[in-house]
Amino acid sequence: MERLEQISRNTREILQRLPPGVTLLGAAKGRTPDEIRAALAGGLVELGHNYVQEAARSIDAVGRHCARWHLIGHLQRNKARRAAELFDQIDTLDSAALAEELDKRCAAAGTVLPVLLEINSAAEERKSGVLPDEAEALARRVAGLEHLRLEGLMTMGPLDEDPRRCRQAFRLTRQLLEHLRSLHLAGAPLGQLSMGMSSSWQAAVEEGATQVRLGTALFGPRPA
Ligand SMILES: *Cc1c(COP(=O)(O)O)cnc(C)c1O
Repeated sequence: MERLEQISRNTREILQRLPPGVTLLGAAKGRTPDEIRAALAGGLVELGHNYVQEAARSIDAVGRHCARWHLIGHLQRNKARRAAELFDQIDTLDSAALAEELDKRCAAAGTVLPVLLEINSAAEERKSGVLPDEAEALARRVAGLEHLRLEGLMTMGPLDEDPRRCRQAFRLTRQLLEHLRSLHLAGAPLGQLSMGMSSSWQAAVEEGATQVRLGTALFGPRPA
């Protein structure tokens, strides 16, 4: 019980510390429904999962309408249909092929899906995400798809979470978002910038994040 109360308290405290215009997403991988409910009790409204299967179990247990559910892990094309049904937003769109598959699924369902492009802002290390140089071409493709709405960008930053390199990656992603905005693409509001984790969220906020994604800072260390 004590531990669950701590999760609610952590959530409330971080929500109070975030400046206006910055929202909090709980990164819920490996967390139980009780832990997720404790964060919701503390005021959390956005939740992210890395895997379609795990998200489906959480959504089942916690309730579809108790939160806005994001996919924050890499999506494979063969899971696009399930993902389009399950999530309120996909934060990790990183290829034209995946965009077209999601668009097709949403067209069939008669829905419009909010998406973020995941930017591989520490290009030498990460395998997922679109490279900064290729982001404009992908943004133009996605903006042209009727059943996707391009809401902004997401990035992870470097694997080692080195503070200086994190900040550089965040700044680069923010500049990229400003560039894409300057194109005035129809169908692409581009108002969201999702970046910053437990060790880097203050820097991310300073660099212009509109949403931070926290796991450890809300839920405590993950069980091994
Ligand atoms: C786990 C995870 C986070 C949160 O990481 P913490 O360091 O635990 O805050 C954020 N974003 C993604 C994509 C994650 O997988």
